[in-house]
Amino acid sequence: MLGYVYSPLVLAHDPPPPTLQVGGRDFTLGSANVAAALLTAQAHELIERSALSGALVRIAPAPASEAALLAVHTAEYLGRLRAACDGGPWDGEYAPVTAATWDAARLTVGGVVAAVDAVLDGRVPRALVHARPAGHHAEPDRAIASTYLNNVACGVEHARSRGVERVAIIDWDVHVANGAERIFWDRDDVLAISLHQQDWYPAHAGALRATGGSGAEGTTVNIPLPPATTDAGYHLAVDEIVAPVVRAFRPDLIMVAAGQDASVFDPTGRMLVSAGGFRSLAARVADLADELTGGRLVAGTEGGYSPIYNPFCLLGVLEGLSGESGGIADPYDDDATVLAARGPADDRVRAAIAAVRAAQPRWFKH
Ligand SMILES: [Zn+2]
Repeated sequence: MLGYVYSPLVLAHDPPPPTLQVGGRDFTLGSANVAAALLTAQAHELIERSALSGALVRIAPAPASEAALLAVHTAEYLGRLRAACDGGPWDGEYAPVTAATWDAARLTVGGVVAAVDAVLDGRVPRALVHARPAGHHAEPDRAIASTYLNNVACGVEHARSRGVERVAIIDWDVHVANGAERIFWDRDDVLAISLHQQDWYPAHAGALRATGGSGAEGTTVNIPLPPATTDAGYHLAVDEIVAPVVRAFRPDLIMVAAGQDASVFDPTGRMLVSAGGFRSLAARVADLADELTGGRLVAGTEGGYSPIYNPFCLLGVLEGLSGESGGIADPYDDDATVLAARGPADDRVRAAIAAVRAAQPRWFKH
């Protein structure tokens, strides 16, 4: 049984594509923003047509309270974001706003809060929030890369406010989880794990040796993986780093920042993960929740920008979290790129994993 949070209202946030100045005039990059609303709508449509649809427990989101947002973001920043959506000045890094951005972002955080409540109240063991905009780059006072409010971080703080003592975040988006790194840097009660493509975006976070502030050493775990890491490489990183660290941390709740932009067809990453790979990744994390938190797990969508593949990858995540089949085959199953995703974890991946273990003496004795 899996809780599913979705509202078509979040589709109203749909900024235009970015532009470059070329020859003194705007040159529009693409026909749509890479984080277009259509991607969310398509993935939802596929989920609705799958065999999972009837088994999902629908959870309605409500706009997040001011308190839920202030637990992570500064009042000054929230005021600035809200005013920008009304036409005020704005300086987000690759994070354009429209009149609909504030409401959509606030509703998405509210969706994560509703999912946390459903799990803590025992209505569902696990839940996935399928919403937009994504959140994992957002910092307390800064919007970055199509993210404005840090959805998962607000969910962590909401769970803490309800008496949950220790929370582990597992972020498998191909980009760096800089938001959680900064927000929880000095916190020994929140474990922030980021699996990402090495030397990727943004550059100011995600370093191997960034492991947490004084008194919180080891609670930031960055796992930079080489380009072209396959399904098996991701699974090995979970088995050899994520699982033992989360076990040793002993969380009361697991939160997942579930970006599907490590997929083989994603335009923003260079990784080789298939829809089946995401299913196994989600299943591994669900097993960890069963083992450690009484099953309690809340996932929220992050990136995922392939129009042809993202829906199948997200369906794979739902299958892995629920343990049930959606009954829809991967249409690219015999594509050469998907076949490459089934390749082994190579020596570069093994070296990357060894380097993370060496950089984390709290969890791995040498
Ligand atoms: Zn991403």
